[in-house]
Amino acid sequence: MPNTNQWTLIAHNISKSFGSAIALDQMSLAIPAGQSVSIMGPSGSGKSTLLHCLAGILRPDSGDVSLGDEPVSLSSDAARSRLRLERMGFVFQDGQLLPELPALENVALPLMLLGRPRAEALGRAADWLARLGLGGLERRRPGQMSGGQAHRVAIARALVHSPAVVLADEPTGALDRATGAEVMRVLTAATRDVGASLVLVTHNPEVAAWCERHIEIVDGRMLAGALS
Ligand code: ADP
Ligand code: MG
Repeated sequence: MPNTNQWTLIAHNISKSFGSAIALDQMSLAIPAGQSVSIMGPSGSGKSTLLHCLAGILRPDSGDVSLGDEPVSLSSDAARSRLRLERMGFVFQDGQLLPELPALENVALPLMLLGRPRAEALGRAADWLARLGLGGLERRRPGQMSGGQAHRVAIARALVHSPAVVLADEPTGALDRATGAEVMRVLTAATRDVGASLVLVTHNPEVAAWCERHIEIVDGRMLAGALS
């Protein structure tokens, strides 16, 4: 069972520069299993860089990231990819679903990549689609759905393998206000259901308000919330 208290996500003194631009400046942060956290800050403040370092997509120049007992930043590319596949789910603004695949197979994909039998993967994907109110839309491709529906498919895909952490970067950025609120309601409820923590980057306070804890960063440094 992946979702126990062992899955605290910890960043310790991480820094990351791109040329002369300092994106993250000695940032430390601990997110206990099951907690939802918003990360807010102006454009260019380092939000996406932080999220990518937490996910092991980017490696910080110094400092380290761990998820429970698993090193994130200090392991090999292959080990980081494996950890992402097994323990993390991702929800991004758009372009996250494979356009040529029906909803059912989009959702089943993480389980298939983990080597689960196809029938089991499709069955669990169907359960998740039903759970998120998308029963009957299994055969639709992303282009044949509304923006809100496609986002719910992406949420199902992020959660289908019961990850320890869900990472979301501006997940509602392309949606109108009411649809964005509905997507946040579904995202926070589903994440809570599986016991995963949620790390959500947004510049929108209404979206951030769905989280339990709030962190603000400016110029790659934390303003508030790091210790709460
Ligand atoms: P945010 O998500 O808060 O808008 P980012 O984390 O994307 O901010 O960027 C933080 C800083 O790092 C910015 O100054 C940005 O220009 C720079 N940066 C981010 N990614 C790259 C990259 N791949 N190459 C060069 N500079 C980058
Ligand atoms: Mg960003």
